[in-house]
Amino acid sequence: MDSSTTRPLNITVVGAGIGGLAAAIALRRSGNRVKIFESSPHNTEFGAGISLQNNSLRILNAWGFLRENLNSVSFDGINIRDAVTGEGHSVTFPHLEQAKAKAINALTCQRNDLLEELKRLAVGDNDCPGPPAELYFDSKVVSCDTEAGSITLESGEAVAADLVIGADGIHSTIRPSILGESVTADTTGLSCFRCLLDATKVADHPTLSWLNEGIEAPWNITTVEGSHFSSFMVYFVRKRELLNLVAYYHDRHREGKCPFDRRGRGASNESRYPGSFSYFSAEFETLLDLPTVPTTASPTGILRWQLPAMPLLSTWVKGRAMIMGDAAHSTLPTSGRAGIAIEEAVTLGVLFPLGTTGDEVSERLEAFQELCKGRGDLVNSESVARVDSTQKKTMSDRELQVYLVARDAIKTAEEYSRLHFDAAPSHGDVD
Ligand SMILES: Cc1cc2nc3c(=O)[nH]c(=O)nc-3n(C[C@H](O)[C@H](O)[C@H](O)COP(=O)(O)OP(=O)(O)OC[C@H]3O[C@@H](n4cnc5c(N)ncnc54)[C@H](O)[C@@H]3O)c2cc1C
Repeated sequence: MDSSTTRPLNITVVGAGIGGLAAAIALRRSGNRVKIFESSPHNTEFGAGISLQNNSLRILNAWGFLRENLNSVSFDGINIRDAVTGEGHSVTFPHLEQAKAKAINALTCQRNDLLEELKRLAVGDNDCPGPPAELYFDSKVVSCDTEAGSITLESGEAVAADLVIGADGIHSTIRPSILGESVTADTTGLSCFRCLLDATKVADHPTLSWLNEGIEAPWNITTVEGSHFSSFMVYFVRKRELLNLVAYYHDRHREGKCPFDRRGRGASNESRYPGSFSYFSAEFETLLDLPTVPTTASPTGILRWQLPAMPLLSTWVKGRAMIMGDAAHSTLPTSGRAGIAIEEAVTLGVLFPLGTTGDEVSERLEAFQELCKGRGDLVNSESVARVDSTQKKTMSDRELQVYLVARDAIKTAEEYSRLHFDAAPSHGDVD
């Protein structure tokens, strides 16, 4: 194909979260012209921790991401501990061992570090192939015409494109245009509070020595059956300078009423953190004595989040528009959602190579849906089934874990493309 006579597609991405930035990277690498519109004045997302596994690291590696920019910590398995007795064991998984050998070993990092690295790869005038994407902050999208491929900003400005990608999260504005109705996420009965703790103070507390034992991996601190808390997940980020703490608890207030002070105000730990930890062994309770890192969203640094999930949607695509990531299949944070958004992004990059015409957009979107929707829906329903006993699990926890990380999304999309379309250039081949 003669790329000098080929018009790149103009693509609008709504939302500069992990999904939107990843989509912009993939599509710019394919030679398309991408504009990203983000409602917030700048990326102010709460800088909590996130884990990335083989499925997404394989893609990030192909995009030339710099692991050192994530200030990450290795994720070699899981340290399981009983909150009351302190007893437990460490588990490594074969897929994590194999990943290490391929330099796609799993990691934990701070979300802001990941967003910054994705931004560099999306908009940077660096070694990345394709034209740098344009990123507009403070640009809230209020509507989308799916047939015309246009969006309207809050300012009244309309932007026309060949393709509109709604990566605008759980409260998506693009979703109702696709579905023709408003469908919102349901509460699941699971909530969490989360915060970042100053890990440089760990040495001041001898009872916290367990944090330097076991394997380099998150700790899953399991609680008593039937207790308020379901589990605590604790892991280092920022080269072990910070500890990310997520405490999952059963939430009887499913209608959005918060039994706790959302900002976690109060002097003592018992009032500062939602819930009582009196049954925790001292070595875990001491964790809560570490100073928290305040954020713009919370002066105490402690945030309480209800964890809802989207019902399964009838479609993710319509005309010249589509949804992906949390806009399409937001679910509980226990199942690597960010990784799946990154898989969807790379799939778009393969399906929309330079040379794709405006007339082909609709059929390529159907291909995207065929490749990605079944997986997104399955992970969504399996995650919910793990906290809602009225829903049926179809996989064991172990099978789900393997299913999540095993996908090679680049290979899958390239094979599909070879089979259904004329050519499938290796992702990122376009200069
Ligand atoms: C407590 C918690 C812990 C998690 N931990 C993990 C983990 O360890 N591993 C993992 O893989 N995943 C985790 N996740 C999930 C992960 O964060 C999300 O799946 C991922 O960030 C999805 O990204 P997204 O881009 O689809 O949506 P979002 O991150 O929600 O981004 C959407 C973006 O769109 C913008 N936007 C919204 N509306 C508009 C509009 N109208 N116009 C313009 N812009 C708009 C928003 O400001 C935002 O920047 C966790 C989630 C939670 C809640």
